Amino acid sequence: MTHVHGSWLRAAGAARLLGADGAVAPTIFAEMSALADVTGAINLGQGFPDDDGPAEVLETAREAIASGQNQYPPGRGAPVLRDAIAEHQQRFYGLAWDPETDIIATAGATEAIAATLLALLDGPDDEVVVFEPFYDAYAAVIGLAGARIVPVRLRWPDFQPDLDELSAAVTDRTRVILVNDPHNPTGTVFSPDVRARIVELAERHDAVIVTDEVYEHLVFGDPHVPIATVPGAADRTVSISSGGKTFRTTGWKIGWVTAPERLTTAILAVKQYLTYANGSPFQPAIARGLRMRDEFFAGLATDMRQKSAVLGAGLTAAGFDVSSPAATYFTVADTSALGFDDAAEFCRALPGLAGVVAVPLTAFVTAEHHDEYRPFVRFAACKKREVLEQAADRLAAITR
Ligand code: PMP
Ligand code: GLN
Repeated sequence: MTHVHGSWLRAAGAARLLGADGAVAPTIFAEMSALADVTGAINLGQGFPDDDGPAEVLETAREAIASGQNQYPPGRGAPVLRDAIAEHQQRFYGLAWDPETDIIATAGATEAIAATLLALLDGPDDEVVVFEPFYDAYAAVIGLAGARIVPVRLRWPDFQPDLDELSAAVTDRTRVILVNDPHNPTGTVFSPDVRARIVELAERHDAVIVTDEVYEHLVFGDPHVPIATVPGAADRTVSISSGGKTFRTTGWKIGWVTAPERLTTAILAVKQYLTYANGSPFQPAIARGLRMRDEFFAGLATDMRQKSAVLGAGLTAAGFDVSSPAATYFTVADTSALGFDDAAEFCRALPGLAGVVAVPLTAFVTAEHHDEYRPFVRFAACKKREVLEQAADRLAAITR
């Protein structure tokens, strides 16, 4: 991957998008997928499935293209999609949102996150409490808004936040508590106590809760509990999700926001000048997916749980200490059990050592906490079982 010099990059807060050498570095996902392409290694780095989503979802997109749904959809999203999102929130979570005022379709969860944070934040006096390690786009967008990150650490091996540390992080300067539950990269599901404390703190300090729930249907145990369902939360929460993970269509980039009207109005004001709108034929297809039967969603979670177990067993057999994820594609492995002490170096060497690609957790942390996460690596389990078994076999060769 070429590093392009970033001297023309003058956006406020853009410094953190550049590497130490002033070059624009690719994201960790792009870098590691390129490494997999060049080396032919099995890519357990960037989280994307290796099989297609449900046939009826794909067919609905084909039909939409064939029937001429190829021009701009409405800026808020096609009515069919907004209706389906409202029905889905009601069916799974008992949340009632008005598709006319409370829902916006976005270009993936990524645009939803960007539009929301750019709408709500303004400069260095605004703080965002973020659970660390965090999805890479959060820090980038908070940087563009010129706001400050206040990290709350999720620590190996259970990656639940410490309630005292969380309480100390939230102050009257906190504009947003940014939640990602189920959590990437750790696979953690927040406990009811953590959710309750977040809501309590948001109320006390008048902060908005922004919650990224793209892994909502990839939970292995009890069904997902959106933080918006906690008493007191719905009125101050922006919930974000996406069809990418649930319907195995990560390249379609259909996401959405559900929130009270005063918040969606602010978000729409920004969103309409980011993309305006996107993905006309994919919007009815994701609507079709959201209306699929309960069995589809249950099957998805079971399949992911089984794959995650195969990956976890393979990593354990290869000598790693591994986390026990409760959801998502991801498992965290401690490389120090194998005598390594720097996960970034380990990941760069891994295609040569074992023909596998993974990503270091240090790509998801602030510089101040870098060393705490130094030995940890994230592996993705969203691949066919035989691919995971082959990867496990190759990883076992490191110590054989
Ligand atoms: N949030 C999290 C936590 C993610 O893991 C991802 C990547 N799938 C996204 C947001 C981005 O979602 P999308 O592809 O819908 O933009
Ligand atoms: N969400 C995916 C992951 O965490 C990657 C998305 C991306 O490449 N930006 O692996």
